[in-house]
Amino acid sequence: MLQLNWIAFSIAGFLFFIGLEYLISRRTGKNYFQFAESVANLNIGIAERLLDIFVTGLFYFFFDYLYRHYAIWQIEPKWYTWVLLFLATDFIWYWYHRLAHEVNILWAAHVVHHQSEDFNYTVSARITVFQAAARSLFWAILPLAGFPPGMITALLLVHGLYPFFIHTQTIGRLGVLEYFLVTPSHHRVHHSSNEKYLDKNYGDVLIIWDKMFGTFVKEDEPCVYGLTTPLKSHSFLWQQFHFMLELATAFRRAKGWRARWKVIFGKPDDIDPEIRGQLEDVWLRKTHSRPQTLLQRIYILVQTAISIALLFVATLLEAYIPVGLNVFIVLFILLSLVNTGAILEQKKWVFYLEYARMMLIAGTFLIYFPHLYVFASVLLFAGLVTYYFSRIEKTFHRWLYQRYR
Ligand SMILES: [Zn+2]
Ligand SMILES: [Zn+2]
Repeated sequence: MLQLNWIAFSIAGFLFFIGLEYLISRRTGKNYFQFAESVANLNIGIAERLLDIFVTGLFYFFFDYLYRHYAIWQIEPKWYTWVLLFLATDFIWYWYHRLAHEVNILWAAHVVHHQSEDFNYTVSARITVFQAAARSLFWAILPLAGFPPGMITALLLVHGLYPFFIHTQTIGRLGVLEYFLVTPSHHRVHHSSNEKYLDKNYGDVLIIWDKMFGTFVKEDEPCVYGLTTPLKSHSFLWQQFHFMLELATAFRRAKGWRARWKVIFGKPDDIDPEIRGQLEDVWLRKTHSRPQTLLQRIYILVQTAISIALLFVATLLEAYIPVGLNVFIVLFILLSLVNTGAILEQKKWVFYLEYARMMLIAGTFLIYFPHLYVFASVLLFAGLVTYYFSRIEKTFHRWLYQRYR
């Protein structure tokens, strides 16, 4: 029997709703989508889904191991234990999310979710593998309490799908649902940097925990989305690692163990705000924030479409793709994601990535089509590109950035 991973179709559903939201926002004359922001959001999501193909199984084994060896109880799947488990997962989620905002080492993973200055369905894709791993550590308490791993992963799906629908400005208030569910309105507050909205509405499905623990605020003034200090960059790597670098710098400068402990487990507000600027001077020099030309946009869109198509196939046919080909797909997509970020910032080193990507394709061809003609033409192609490297590089820059220097 054909063994397909149907999760792949959630990618299609996801794109469908983004398209729908885009059309609605255009129709109503409100533009909720900026090109660079949306592309950056999608790219973060592509990386997470991609690495998730490998990690999801690990989480299951981790839960299963804990359940079989250390469970203090054996809970049977009955309707009331499902309800209990749902309440438990949502409660743990609240605390995980709250601590992710209050503890530096956890914020380093969660900050990525909050960098976008837009608020639309593409923002829901801003999850990283580090975040998923941190969350699973919190959920590890459930198998210990006796919930079977099968039940837990089923609920993970609910917590994976529900939050998608609350990342939108196209839905207003939802009447009576506002009292007990986390609605788009509640989550808009959570993504805002307005003073009164900071560190509020952490809930995932139920808003009751926020009301219980005093972190609930109603949406009653227009939201300003994003971090309190905006990121100024769409670089794929910078978005993922800037806060880790800030922490490392603060840690190095801290005097004594108490101060160091505070860097890791203290509050994000206590990290010296100057550090970000100093790191930007080192890592983000020569960043151009000019709007992209039509050609650049097409180039980026084609690249993103190819990454998404590859991700779809890799997920759907997970059981059939040999390890070597998987390694190729992962490397290819990761290179493309860094590449897209670099083009958004008009970086010159983007050509080196293009070169690496070309060689990766050539190498993969050689491995999977070991024929003499393939070998000769790949070798000839690689040789020519390497020989004319600087000439091609110049032409590429002229073509993509319209720079004549
Ligand atoms: Zn958050
Ligand atoms: Zn969110």
